[in-house]
Amino acid sequence: MPGWLRDYLRKPEGRAARHPHYLEIMVARTGQPARTFRINLDTLKKAGQALGVVFLVWFGGTFYVAYLHVSSMEAIARAEQQAAKIAQLESSNIRLAEEKQSMGQYVFNLNARVEELAVRVHGMVNRAQAEFPVEANRPQGGVAIPVSSANADEMMRKEFSLFDENIDNLLPELETTLAREFARPVGSPIAGGIDISSRYGVRSNPFGNGHEFHNGIDFIVDRGTPVLATGPGRVEAAGYDGPNGNRAVIDHGFGYRSVYAHLSKVHVKAGDPVERGQVVGLSGNTGRSSGPHLHYTLYYRGQTINPARYVKAN
Ligand SMILES: [Zn+2]
Repeated sequence: MPGWLRDYLRKPEGRAARHPHYLEIMVARTGQPARTFRINLDTLKKAGQALGVVFLVWFGGTFYVAYLHVSSMEAIARAEQQAAKIAQLESSNIRLAEEKQSMGQYVFNLNARVEELAVRVHGMVNRAQAEFPVEANRPQGGVAIPVSSANADEMMRKEFSLFDENIDNLLPELETTLAREFARPVGSPIAGGIDISSRYGVRSNPFGNGHEFHNGIDFIVDRGTPVLATGPGRVEAAGYDGPNGNRAVIDHGFGYRSVYAHLSKVHVKAGDPVERGQVVGLSGNTGRSSGPHLHYTLYYRGQTINPARYVKAN
């Protein structure tokens, strides 16, 4: 027993010691002498108080333990929430990393496609330069719009995504456009200076009275002058053909056909591929012709067109 408890339970002093309160219990049993139990009420009161303190301590302790338990549960719940948050952050971090990687892959693919396009466009430009002489250093101008680097980045991204969307459609269209441009019969069928005796349109009949429609251009040339194909294509017909005399017809594709008439000699035959500038024959005076000249007709989609602006085009 601790000292303070022994002190507390010690027999009272002073008045309480001189006049103690007792509870006396007498136990009487048959055939036995009666026994008396005496309990000091002050001591009993003190013992009751001590029990009360013990109960309070026990109750408080139990409450404290329960409180600790609850608060540790809360701490665990908070820790679990934080763990969940961390897991979420980690997964979003992984997602961001993946997005970054896929963005990098996208830019990489785009670069590869741009390079591929550059090679193809370069090839087209080379072909175009081979087909048509290029005028160097054409003047350029316009209002310069200042572009900040942030804007430039944004603009570039937009251009890139548009470019990426259109690239697959664009390339075949470019190819077709260029092929059509290559195929167009442009320039003169006669090398060097030209002298035109009869233009496209209504003219007076060179063989008699009245007027007639002249469906092409007449170039005055000496007999035997080389006649050149004005565009690449395939010979559709070659040889004698009534009023046209000896003639060559070239199909250039894309609706274009050219006819070279009154030739003295034809150097090609039907089915031959021809290149721009290739000699298809020599000029002459065959068929319905009033003198040595080259009659040149252009067809577009089955209709004759005025060759003048095509001849001047080169
Ligand atoms: Zn003519």
